[in-house]
Amino acid sequence: MKTVDLHCDTLSEIRRRRKNGEEISFGKNNLHIDLEKLQQGNYLLQCFAIYVNLKKEENPLAAALEQADLFREIIAQYSSKIGQVKTWIDLEQNRNEGKISALLTLEEGGCCAGSLPVLRILYSLGVRIMTLTWNYENDLAWPNIVPDTLTGGMNCGAQTEHGLKEKGFAFLEEMERLGILIDVSHLSDAGFFDVLKHTKKPFIASHSNARALCGHVRNLTDEMIRALADRGGVMGLNYFGAFLDPSDQAASSVKKIAEHASYIRKVGGIGCLALGSDFDGISGELEMKNASFLPMLEAELGKQHFTEDEIDLIFRDNALRVLKGSLPG
Ligand SMILES: [Zn+2]
Repeated sequence: MKTVDLHCDTLSEIRRRRKNGEEISFGKNNLHIDLEKLQQGNYLLQCFAIYVNLKKEENPLAAALEQADLFREIIAQYSSKIGQVKTWIDLEQNRNEGKISALLTLEEGGCCAGSLPVLRILYSLGVRIMTLTWNYENDLAWPNIVPDTLTGGMNCGAQTEHGLKEKGFAFLEEMERLGILIDVSHLSDAGFFDVLKHTKKPFIASHSNARALCGHVRNLTDEMIRALADRGGVMGLNYFGAFLDPSDQAASSVKKIAEHASYIRKVGGIGCLALGSDFDGISGELEMKNASFLPMLEAELGKQHFTEDEIDLIFRDNALRVLKGSLPG
């Protein structure tokens, strides 16, 4: 079992479709991710984000909890094949039993309504990775605003002035204490450097690429890649065309993903590379049409002169290193 993926939006997509009256199961569906595709893609661990759009949800915390409940339902229904990971031992146990592991994450710290007790309750439900923001300013921090994110547009600037708010700093401290990995994907550039300055442990960018190759503000600058790598963190390669190639935003190819991997290896070293597909949160033409196509990326990395050991690091071991340091025993 080889593949570890730090970010997908499958929970929010299943919730959205069910609200629209669609009958959709996790076992087999037409999304990027279902149980069958994870098995075909040789997954060891999939991180499942609770994703909340603060401007579309009347009650963001309820929206988050509904997704946590959906996650619980999935794990209960397919318990012989997939198991939740709250601790490192859970992960090892699942692996020994031949089960895929599933880890709950939160994409939008604003769901916590600025309350540390709410954060702790989400931790108790299993949330082990959290972004402080999505694309909107909230009570914790400023994001790199992406006004036309849904069309994959590029007309946006990095936010270099406004980073974390007072409450955001209190959250950082509590997240490090609890063992919730800080995820800087979506966070403003200023916020990234606030995190760097005010934390001690490795942090991650779960689904971001290299800005030098694709000038979208969802990607990391060279300086950020180096800082993240020096801290011992990882960044998950995002398969979305708009974050891969500014000249051809609609197309996501394994060749372009591998080119980002090559560049990031050059800037931050092999140790900071991981996978963060963004499956079920991205649109457009995808060469890797869903999770079952991951062997295509493995083959392309080989073609672009990554050794087998390096591919193992990107696909699994770097992410596991950071999780092992962060999850309770
Ligand atoms: Zn995202």
